[in-house]
Amino acid sequence: MGSKPETSISHNLRIILFPFPFQGHINPMLQLANLLYSKGFSITILHTNFNAPKISNYPHFTFISILDNDPEDKRFSKSSLIDFAPNFIFKQDGADVLRKELELLLALEKDKPVSCLITDAFWHFTQSVADSLNLPRLVLRTSSLYSTIIFSSIPLLDDRGYFTLDDSHLEEQVSEFPLLKVKDILKIGIKSNKDPYAELLSDMIKQTKASSGIIWNSFNELEETELERIQHEFPVQSFLIPFPKYLTSSLSSLLDQDQTVIHWLDQQSTESVLYVSFGSISQVNEKEFLEIAHGLVNSKQPFLWVVRPGFVKGSTWLESLPDEFPGEKGRVVKWAPQQEVLAHEATGAFWTHSGWNSTLESVCEGVAMICSPFRGDQSLDARYISDAVRVGVYLENGFQREEISGAINRVMVDEEGKEIRERVRVLKQKADVSLMKSGSSYESLESLIDYMCSF
Ligand code: UDP
Repeated sequence: MGSKPETSISHNLRIILFPFPFQGHINPMLQLANLLYSKGFSITILHTNFNAPKISNYPHFTFISILDNDPEDKRFSKSSLIDFAPNFIFKQDGADVLRKELELLLALEKDKPVSCLITDAFWHFTQSVADSLNLPRLVLRTSSLYSTIIFSSIPLLDDRGYFTLDDSHLEEQVSEFPLLKVKDILKIGIKSNKDPYAELLSDMIKQTKASSGIIWNSFNELEETELERIQHEFPVQSFLIPFPKYLTSSLSSLLDQDQTVIHWLDQQSTESVLYVSFGSISQVNEKEFLEIAHGLVNSKQPFLWVVRPGFVKGSTWLESLPDEFPGEKGRVVKWAPQQEVLAHEATGAFWTHSGWNSTLESVCEGVAMICSPFRGDQSLDARYISDAVRVGVYLENGFQREEISGAINRVMVDEEGKEIRERVRVLKQKADVSLMKSGSSYESLESLIDYMCSF
């Protein structure tokens, strides 16, 4: 897992990449950019000023800010996904701005042509822009194949009435996707096919199918059956590459990572620490926060807990916790070098919100999970990880202290936890092997490069 890629060959080709401006989307796009740079491509990154990447960490890339350059434009003052994204996604002017920028870039450096545009799947309007310029567009899908299959079935699930079922059906199986319970579908956070979020997902699926290919942050051995289904439903090439196996995402962290946690971990016993983090966006209320805190202390296991400022609604940071918290066994930080924490031998399990990057980082380091999904794809990935791959335990009923300390002990102490840890260790080995010559990820990366050189 290196950070500064070496490059030995040059393809004399430029690649333009356009990440969606949230941590879970920026990390894999910049990992991909570094990987392509190491394979001899010149890299140009288009980015918004909102959540702009740390440019100084990438002196080998060209950065161009687009879309929200006008400080007077009131549309750019909000920062949540719901408030922010539609301004760019649903508006024609986003497409016009991008087309102008791409026209300029295509006219530059004629001896180093642009091979293709790679955009986040959420930037669905970029497909029509790429088409109008005759520029191949590849999609980076930053979530699992499994959740993407479910998302592409939202119209079907809506037709069958799943989104309007009442609470008496929560525990029932979804017959079209037997792995799932009704509550997993409801946790996606849409009420019907007409919701703005459902429309965003529908446009994303449509324009992903219309692209020249899909790059997934995953590996074949993790989602074998799903890959077959994707190849059936999406008529374009898929390339599965587990980025955390190649590079750390620390360089693209928007928040400063507290490096002192590594020294703290050095002082803990092997596989003794529960690492707890719920990603860059999720929030809890004060009651849930206290349940988490009590569940952690009651488990009597050492823990390292990332409490992002803003994680608790209405609080700045830890003010609602009792003074004696976290006690001798715990450590709380604002943001951690997550991949390095997961790679540390003291880390025994990861209590996660099941964001796809966190999930894959955990699998790549062979760390068992406790899954507490919040919204979107997270409930689908939590179910997949706990019930299909069986490398995690799903905390199904929200945050309740007894259930939390019980789940922690199941994973960290009980026989069941040993079995889960063994399965995830085997899965990590499969990921390692997939990187070797003629392994699935190795072949996927090589064929992606050949493909990009063929445009
Ligand atoms: N992350 C980090 N430090 C932390 C917590 C998270 O660097 O303390 C990184 C993590 O390694 C992952 C990303 O933030 O790459 C979170 O992405 P994910 O898809 O898991 O969740 P999201 O934030 O999009 O909900």
